Amino acid sequence: MKHALHAEPVGTRASQALTIIGQNIDLAVDHEGAICQDTGMPTFEVKTPVRVNQILVRDEIRRAVVEATRRGKLRPNSVDSITGENSGDNLGPGTPIIHFEQWERDDVEIKLILKGGGCENTNAQYALPVELPHLGRADRNLEGVRKCILHAVWNAQGKGCSPGAVGVSVGGDRTSGYAHAKEQLFRTLDDVNPDRRLADVEASIMATVNSLEIGTMGFGGNVTLIGCKIGAQNRLPASFFVSVAYDCWAFRRLGVTLNATTGAIEQWLYRDPSHPIIPMLDQSGFTRTGREVRLQTPVTEEQIRSLKVGDVVLVSGRMFTGRDAVHAHLMKHDPPVDLRGAVLYHCGPVVMKEGDGWRVTAAGPTTSIREEPYQGEIIRRYGVRVVIGKGGMGAKTLAALGSHGAVYLNAIGGAAQFYARAITGVDGVSLLEFGTPEAMWHLTVDDFPAIVTMDAHGNSLHRDIERESGEHLEALAFSAQ
Ligand code: SF4
Repeated sequence: MKHALHAEPVGTRASQALTIIGQNIDLAVDHEGAICQDTGMPTFEVKTPVRVNQILVRDEIRRAVVEATRRGKLRPNSVDSITGENSGDNLGPGTPIIHFEQWERDDVEIKLILKGGGCENTNAQYALPVELPHLGRADRNLEGVRKCILHAVWNAQGKGCSPGAVGVSVGGDRTSGYAHAKEQLFRTLDDVNPDRRLADVEASIMATVNSLEIGTMGFGGNVTLIGCKIGAQNRLPASFFVSVAYDCWAFRRLGVTLNATTGAIEQWLYRDPSHPIIPMLDQSGFTRTGREVRLQTPVTEEQIRSLKVGDVVLVSGRMFTGRDAVHAHLMKHDPPVDLRGAVLYHCGPVVMKEGDGWRVTAAGPTTSIREEPYQGEIIRRYGVRVVIGKGGMGAKTLAALGSHGAVYLNAIGGAAQFYARAITGVDGVSLLEFGTPEAMWHLTVDDFPAIVTMDAHGNSLHRDIERESGEHLEALAFSAQ
């Protein structure tokens, strides 16, 4: 991420976004807080010698997950798929995910990856041969694999909190393909694939993909991907799957090797405790240019109509969170608060109970496009003036922004520690029965920075970047022929 920061000219949208990300990383280190409020699906890969009791290991992992959730290191993220009820402790059927494998070594290896919903939703699987927009036909060969990877990255735009890294599996079946793709994300970014053919594809992707200019958070820019790792497994003659697991910039992995007899940690993986942690940046707080627009809530239509794509906004006052459950609720029920002139923040924060009150410990934006079926109607019915999220929204919302005088602000995805510090108070909560991530939190914020990416004049940065990066994609396909 430091390389990415240095690759963007100072003052650009991508550079501003990366500066916030850099500060967020430093804050997460200093306070041992969640680097992003979506702490993802805890996925453990465990390798044990034959004599180790895997049932005990599973119980210990589950106990650790409950404890990490209690301490606010993990957000309660395990939801009953039918009722939507949150278990509250990250345990439930299928969560956490724990894969066991036996090996010939004497020690135990446990690796954990935390991959959040925003990037998980951008994963893609292709059954070759397939026709791809801008790229033409992807055949059953390595050039076809390359096209699938480029398409997956283009399709993700900023929704998976770019710049991201992709793990790719060639072959397998639909199930094993995705699992194998995720396993590739455990490789270090600077390793070299031992399979020369796959190493060449990885190098080719990394040499060309940044010319798509999707950039950080899809704002445009020089860095779109920070890593591409490909594995291959055998397949049925009739099938040729390419599975792509997209991981965001937060890219959280950790591991240990344990003494199988004593349980003592012998080695940390992905981190060297003897190596000093070097801060990303030597500054704190949002870097101002003097051109920022201040918005105090409740916001007027006149203020909204004066904003245009590219403006950097500092929001102060009251803000309400709302994501999937709140949006579905508002389609059938009146809001629990007056939303006229309000700011609606697509966010599922990590919130800790403190005495009679609450404290937000992590509060970055969630992916907005999930609310596309509802957002325009909610703006129209209840008079919401500002929607804040990440990744942008679609044509229906853009039309509603114009006809009802509202604006969409893109906050920096994953910058959970940074934004938690812009929240000066939790004044209340509605719909807590949906669980803490899905409840409607009433927050007071001070100088909360975000960028106008969809305005009330029909402009959308997301639509423009998608179109322009599509043209770059076409150029890449053409140059490879
Ligand atoms: S950084 Fe973005 S994609 Fe990654 S877990 Fe956080 S919100 Fe999701």
